[in-house]
Amino acid sequence: MKTVKIIGRVLLILVKVLAVFFLAILLYFFIPPFYNRYVVYPELEHERTALWKKYKKPELLIPQTDFKGVLHSHTYRSHDSRGILAEILPAAKKAKLDFIFLADHRMSDLDTFPRGIHGIFNDIVIESGTESPGPSMMVTPLRNVVLDWKSDRSQLIHDVVKKGGMVFYLHSEDGHDWANPDYQGLEIYNIHSDLIDEKNPVKFLINGMINSGIHRHWSYRELFDEQTKIISLWDSLNNHRKIVGMAAVDAHNNQSLRAKYLKNGKVEWVGPNAKTISINEPGWKEKLLLGKPDVAGWAFKMELDTYFHSFNFANTHIFSDTLSSRSLKNDLVKGHAYISFESLAEAKGFQFVSTDSSGKINAIIGDSIQSKNVLKLKAISPFAVKFELYKNGKLIDSKEDSYDYEFQTKNKKGNYRIVARLKFRRKQLPWIYTNPIYVY
Ligand SMILES: [Zn+2]
Repeated sequence: MKTVKIIGRVLLILVKVLAVFFLAILLYFFIPPFYNRYVVYPELEHERTALWKKYKKPELLIPQTDFKGVLHSHTYRSHDSRGILAEILPAAKKAKLDFIFLADHRMSDLDTFPRGIHGIFNDIVIESGTESPGPSMMVTPLRNVVLDWKSDRSQLIHDVVKKGGMVFYLHSEDGHDWANPDYQGLEIYNIHSDLIDEKNPVKFLINGMINSGIHRHWSYRELFDEQTKIISLWDSLNNHRKIVGMAAVDAHNNQSLRAKYLKNGKVEWVGPNAKTISINEPGWKEKLLLGKPDVAGWAFKMELDTYFHSFNFANTHIFSDTLSSRSLKNDLVKGHAYISFESLAEAKGFQFVSTDSSGKINAIIGDSIQSKNVLKLKAISPFAVKFELYKNGKLIDSKEDSYDYEFQTKNKKGNYRIVARLKFRRKQLPWIYTNPIYVY
């Protein structure tokens, strides 16, 4: 009798310990998302509204137009995305994009260009390209050609670039042939690269699910970390030759649970990475969950990475004369570009230039200019920011809470670039990274 009592007591203690343990786990994962939902995100939203009211249209210093777009996006032409134009276009319009450079995974070793979606749709330029196998590159030939992914890689890069195309290294955290003489640039930011460095992806996921409504842009930003390693790699590469920095969305719109009716009346359930989970006859759960199909046929969807939230997250702005693939590519490879994080604030109007002794502008970002011709570097912003000036990768000057910035170079040679930071909840968040002006 005594033994039974003891066992009973031990069991009870065990149950209590387990209950406390599970409660602790529950609190650990669920308190922060709800704290975000009811305290942090409303506060951030309030600050963003106040910031946006302080917009000042910057004076136009340069004749080129600032075109905003995204690079490295995926569509149904990739094995791990189902995205179609009818989904991509409204998201791109809402994010106020002027262009999208796609980088779909290759379908076979022989890759025929142009491939997939390419053209001008509702004033948005969409250019096709491939994310290569192996050390990943975005290859945009801009001509009719068949590329063989089994051929020698450096020869392929050389040919694409020589014949007017574009090659950018993707996923800069991975190994690449950095000394290759032909590639034109790299990703200085990629949403995916930033996501994989999360120490606690489960927490990120739960927060994203709980804050998937009006606060999704803030929950999305939880993955953001300054890519200091990649930025310093970029700076070191620029000491040898011009390597253009761009931002990548790597949008797949595929971290979701979705369902659609097929032509034969069955229902296909699609999970993360656009993989089919099951195809079955509609049963009680389909009757309960599925509604009217959307433009892409999805009758049920629970999504994390929508096209809009990716398109509105990490952008590349290109200063160019014409909105066409060719013109945008030409200016991008010249480095006439900066990157921005637009869910914080719209960056159009931001400019960074050099001026001569009479105050005349003689170079924009990406340009090279002789040191004797430069008197000042000048930047202006549509919002008050903290300007940080980096020379050959080292912070040499800064100015807080200002719409404009000036720096006398005093004939000092070097690569000068700007980081502009916006203040949110007392933190200075990086908002813009420009390509350098090369003073030689
Ligand atoms: Zn990709």
